[in-house]
Amino acid sequence: MIAQLAEQAKAEGKTGLAISFAGWLSDDGSCAEAAPNLSWNRTPLSALAADYGLDCHLENDVDARAWGEWINRQKSNPGGDMLVINAGSGFALGMVLDHRLRRGARRRAGEVGHWRPGLKGRCGCGALGCAESLLGAAHHEPSDFDKTALRQRWLDLAVATLAPVIAALDPGQTIATGGLLDHRPELRLELQTRLRQALPEAWFGGFELLPSVGGEALARLGVLDLARRAQKG
Ligand SMILES: [Zn+2]
Repeated sequence: MIAQLAEQAKAEGKTGLAISFAGWLSDDGSCAEAAPNLSWNRTPLSALAADYGLDCHLENDVDARAWGEWINRQKSNPGGDMLVINAGSGFALGMVLDHRLRRGARRRAGEVGHWRPGLKGRCGCGALGCAESLLGAAHHEPSDFDKTALRQRWLDLAVATLAPVIAALDPGQTIATGGLLDHRPELRLELQTRLRQALPEAWFGGFELLPSVGGEALARLGVLDLARRAQKG
């Protein structure tokens, strides 16, 4: 993959690569520590790109999307804190606070899918009982989400996972992204209703869960902008 991208980059006269992917980065941001869906395991992407004389900037896909969503919302939420919920094959958050993307000390910030509420299923990360084993669409058939029983369990656990985070951060805007929430506007509205019940209006002022207006293209915008900023130092 790096060889292909390097060839393309050089043909276009580019000096570096910016890659966002579904998985975890190493603490220093140079390796794909694990990306179960891509079969990447401690894959040194930056070193591989350096072999072709290219810089390489890596981001987690939800972080890249969160930064793109934040840039895209500067008119309606100038400078405001933003929480981006990604409910797709996995379940994770991206956070932009005080104008900065927050990645955490170990690049694990926002990985709320991997707390363990005591479920029985095995998670894509290899651990038993992570919230993602219920919240991640990778563990279900798409039609399962139209069944009331699963939908209610999903909503219960999504609210238990998200409400404390929203209360802790008090974001200016919260955006719903990912295959599950993008393609099921009624699920997004149901989740909004349940979160409003969990977050009293007197405190949190009529919580809104907004749809993305830019879609997946914003992850590309995000990772390119983050790569440019990193290059400038
Ligand atoms: Zn897990």
